[in-house]
Formats: sequence, structure tokens, C-alpha cells
Amino acid sequence: MSEYNRWFTDNWWISPLNFSENVLEDFNIPKNVYVRDSTIREGEETPGVYYTLEDKIDIVEKLEEIGVGDIDVGYIGRVQEQWDLANKIKELGLKIKTYCHLSSNPIKWDEEIQKALGAKVDYIGYGIVLTPWQLELFTGDSRVSPQVMLNIIPLTLRKIRKYGGTAILDCVDATRSDLTLLKDAIRRGIKHGVKKVLLYDTVGACHPRAISYMIKEIKPICGDIPLGIHIHDDFGLATASSIAAVEQGAEFMDLVVNQLGDRAGNASLEEVVVSLKILYGIDTGIDLSKLYELSKLVEEKSGIKIPPNKPVVGENTFLHESELHVMSAIKKDKFWMCFTPYKDKVVGQKEQLIFGPTTLHGDAIRFKCEELKFDEYEKYLNNIKHELRLIISKKKFVTEPEFEQIILKYKK
Ligand SMILES: [Zn+2]
Repeated sequence: MSEYNRWFTDNWWISPLNFSENVLEDFNIPKNVYVRDSTIREGEETPGVYYTLEDKIDIVEKLEEIGVGDIDVGYIGRVQEQWDLANKIKELGLKIKTYCHLSSNPIKWDEEIQKALGAKVDYIGYGIVLTPWQLELFTGDSRVSPQVMLNIIPLTLRKIRKYGGTAILDCVDATRSDLTLLKDAIRRGIKHGVKKVLLYDTVGACHPRAISYMIKEIKPICGDIPLGIHIHDDFGLATASSIAAVEQGAEFMDLVVNQLGDRAGNASLEEVVVSLKILYGIDTGIDLSKLYELSKLVEEKSGIKIPPNKPVVGENTFLHESELHVMSAIKKDKFWMCFTPYKDKVVGQKEQLIFGPTTLHGDAIRFKCEELKFDEYEKYLNNIKHELRLIISKKKFVTEPEFEQIILKYKK
């Protein structure tokens, strides 16, 4: 693909600055970048969301269909419904890999590991906590120090291995942990056999440049062990920070459809994978043309409405109202790129236009009349504008079919 084609293709027109050498020289993008989806586990932690087992299976099947290879199924050793899902995924012969978490109670770990393996889970997440407040909250004992946590890493990983499990090191609240302790924990984890490392920005408390720095510091310790990131959106930076992690070498990202999750939610799957593909040229293996379908399914199952101005999947993303935008949408064969960075079909959406208070200059009306082969329109322009204004004053906008009805009335 030539440089030119990277930023201007049949389907998108983005900034050539994205591919400037001065920008690219700061990156250390890995060969393979993939998604671990958490729409089930984090999704159900969204206040007010409850999925039945059937809902969960419908979502997992759709995720598998669009190319997601890995999902978080939750605390399956402690929550029966989460175990049922993990088990059902394997019973149905789905290919998607399942990840679960151990709880914060070490006394239960033997039992939890065995339960997880009973559901043929692919990865067992061992969550390490390195901040004193969280340690005291989880253990109920103010004497449990980060050093104690570091010391039990080998024992726990040995335990997971003993039962035949594959461990992933979940670094809880990594961004608010002491970086030296965090590195020490990861070194110990890798030495004792973890197959992946996942860093959590548990309350979205880290800006993208600081995420870049953290990945740069930790990536060399991980070597060939895949490094992942899980980011919450408390400051609206989860998409940017997830991408910042990939720029510096993170291989996988924990993402959630429709940005569901605790509080302000998690990094949005649709925003991250579309940005990576179009702005960076990174293929995560996700079929982008099915993103809208997936998003609507999760909207239905979760009961959480997609905001209309949500990037990628929101209704307004391909709905044009203002004068110049409507003009480019009417003449989309030639001018589709003037007011959109990528075509609707790229993400499975359908472009629409409406006439509203900002579409009454006259040129958009003219374009539409010409499209309908209404040559005499100028004689009726004031009447047409008047009719449009009347409808807009009552119901805020006029749809394209409503506009066509008005034209046909004068055209006859
Ligand atoms: Zn989280």
C-alpha cells in the first residue's frame, strides 16, 4: 500500500499527519494486536445491567462471529451464573478463549482453581494488589503489606500450575501502584510461569502519556509474554489511553462494547478497533462492518441506550443535518468524504440526512431538487422553504422522505 493510499482510500479520508515519520518514530507497535472483550463481566457490572445465560451466549456468539478471540467470563469460582456461562461456551464448542479471575480470598483459591478448570477455562487471572488501602479493604488486615503480596506470587502460581491451569497476572490498579513494586511483581510472575500480563487502570486515573511511559518501562520485562491493558473512562480518556498502550508495545486490550462497565465504563471496543484500523493501519482481526450490529445487540440485551453522539455506533455519526454536510451527502458519489472521515458501510451503519434549521440556506434544497429532476424548483423555492420551516418548528427536523413528498407536490 502506498503512503498516499494509507490516508485516502475508497472508504476513508484521514489526516496524512498520522503517517508522518516524525509521528511514527515514537511508536513501538507490536506485530499482533488483539482484543480481549469484557462486555459480559464488566458489562454486567454496569449499574442496572442483568443478562440471562441466553443473553450472554447471544453476545458471546456475536463476538466470536466478528472476530473476538478472547473474553473475560468473571469470577467463576465464586459466582455460579458466571461458571454456567464459561461451561456453556465450551459445551457449545465455541472457539473463543475464556478468562476468569480468582477472588480476593486466598483461602478459597484451591477450590476456585478447580472449579475454573472444571469449566475448561483457558486462563486463570491471578489479581495482585499493591496499594495499602486496597490490601486492607480486601484482606481486612492492615498488616498485609505489598511485600506480603509479592512473596505469595510464586506460591499462587505454583498452585495454578499444579492443577493444570494457565495463569495470567492481573495487576490491579497498576497505574496507582508503586512502579518499582509493580515491576518486581511482574518479574516474579514471569519467572514463575504467567503466560500474559494485564495492567489495570482501574479508575482511569492515568493520562495517555503516562500510560505510554508505563508500557515503555514494563514491556522490556515482559519480553515475549503478551502485555495487555484494561482502562476505565472516568476522564473520558480510555480510548486514547488504550491506543497509547498499543503505540508502545501492548499486544492486547481489554475492551467493552458500548463502553459499558463500572462508573463511566471501560474503553469502548468499537472506538478502539476502528481507530487502530483506520488511523494506524493495525488490524485487530475484527470485522468492522459488523460493529453496528454488535452494538445494537448489546444495547438490547443490556438495556443501556447508545448515546446518539457516540462515535462509530451512535445514530448521529452518519446522520447529517447542517447545510454543507447535507450537500456532500446528497452528492455522495463524488463528495462523500467532505464531512466524514470514513464511509458508513465500514462499520455497518447507514448514512441518512435530515433537513433542520441549519439546512435552509437554499443550496442543499437545490441539490435535492436537482437529484429529483425538479427543474422548476426556483419558482417554488420560497414556498418549499416555508413548508420546511413550518414542519421544523413543530417537530425539529424534516426527514428525506418527507422532503421528497413536499417536492413531489410542486413538481406535478
Ligand atoms: Zn475494570
